[in-house]
Amino acid sequence: MNTLSTIEVARETLLRKRDSLLKRRAGLHSDQEELMEHHETDVPDVAADVTSARLLDRLDDVERTELERVTRALERLDVGLYGRCIVCKKQIPQERLRALPEADRCASCTNSH
Ligand SMILES: [Zn+2]
Repeated sequence: MNTLSTIEVARETLLRKRDSLLKRRAGLHSDQEELMEHHETDVPDVAADVTSARLLDRLDDVERTELERVTRALERLDVGLYGRCIVCKKQIPQERLRALPEADRCASCTNSH
């Protein structure tokens, strides 16, 4: 029975993940601002700038989704629901939680989703 250590490991991993996502997002946003400034003042190639801005937007979406998953997992940790599948309520196997700490459903529920 090492549920506690799995949870402790998960909490640390999730906190680290959230931290680096937040930092990366901050970095992305300042890049984007630079891009906008550049776009306004000096526009030799508008199309290239627009493409880069779209790319940043898309990255932002992916990271926002991941950040939400990590945040929800931390909330479940706090209320003691962590490690249970949100669909079938069964215990998610520890190997899966270690590989994917923000997992909120078991493998079979993920696949049938
Ligand atoms: Zn399930």
